[in-house]
Amino acid sequence: MALKDIVKAHIRDLEPYQPGKPIEAVERELGISGSVKLASNESPLGPSPKAMAAVQQAVANIHRYPDGASFDLRRKLSQRLAVGEEQLVFGAGADEILELLAKILLGPGDECVFAWPSFAMYPIVVRGMGATPVQVPLDRDLVHDLAAMAASVTERTRLVFVCNPNNPTGTSIGADDLDRFMSTLSEDVVVAIDEAYADFARRRDFPDALSWVARRPGTIVLRTFSKVFGLAGLRIGYGVADPELADYLQRARHPFNVNRLAEVAAAAALDDRDYLEKITRLNASGVDYLSRELRDLGIEVWPSDANFVLARTGSDVYEKLLLQGVIVRPLGGFGMPDHVRISVGLPEENERFVKALRRIREVEA
Ligand SMILES: *Cc1c(COP(=O)(O)O)cnc(C)c1O
Repeated sequence: MALKDIVKAHIRDLEPYQPGKPIEAVERELGISGSVKLASNESPLGPSPKAMAAVQQAVANIHRYPDGASFDLRRKLSQRLAVGEEQLVFGAGADEILELLAKILLGPGDECVFAWPSFAMYPIVVRGMGATPVQVPLDRDLVHDLAAMAASVTERTRLVFVCNPNNPTGTSIGADDLDRFMSTLSEDVVVAIDEAYADFARRRDFPDALSWVARRPGTIVLRTFSKVFGLAGLRIGYGVADPELADYLQRARHPFNVNRLAEVAAAAALDDRDYLEKITRLNASGVDYLSRELRDLGIEVWPSDANFVLARTGSDVYEKLLLQGVIVRPLGGFGMPDHVRISVGLPEENERFVKALRRIREVEA
């Protein structure tokens, strides 16, 4: 038997997601140490101390299955967001909610519309169901072209992803633009507004996406504890949807998809106001610093409402930074071979990146 003949063609043809290189792998390959990783939009502050304490306490109970309903976290979050408990769906990262959406909505012949370049998981979850991704190019400012996206919706479209702020560009859309888009869209498609980075956004007209969940059935807002809450390694994210959509997602998920440690850590992190304030302040000054320094070097950067900065450094800069122990994210896989994405680090890590980049520039000059 040839396995390749029986595995589904749409799975066989999948291009795997390429994660940022782990520090350990880079150091092993290059024989270096003391490198910095600014490649995966992780929190430079480490986890919230409150979350760590909660995890330590819960460790003694990991022989028990988790609470499949995430009762405590659900209650706390529903109060925080002023939504019904039945509107929340938790997943092993927001990634799992993306996959559940694809699972309940998409099959061969169905289309999913999203902007491109955008989050690398979108084409993977769509193709993984044998459905067709419809990738709508960002506009000239690398912002979602919402008019073009609306025009790309056909009778085959089941799902639309809107990534705001957008990864890997950091650009965002404002309330007026989102409102116009949502109110013109067909009622027969589900819209997922991916707000993985919303807590970092500083523009004053950043949309209130949750209000659309209340106004439009078939709308879901995705959030994660991986970025602003610093819990990427525990894998927990969630969706806020109208109760009917949330119910379908609940049926499709595994009963214990969110692990016990993630549940308690997320609940504790929600209460850690100090951490939230610290990380958003640190991030804002980091985005400003990196943008300023890059512009100083004559490098084009884009306005970022996220915890990373997109820069047009020219090709090969990713490899040259690696040799100096600075790991950023190359974007060749997005058709942007001249660009890199730099996650905001601690001030000294950001400075280390800028120094390394200056050295590369000096050698080239
Ligand atoms: C990081 C990210 C997610 C999900 O992250 P999880 O770790 O799976 O919660 C979702 N969308 C975007 C745009 C992201 O960048």
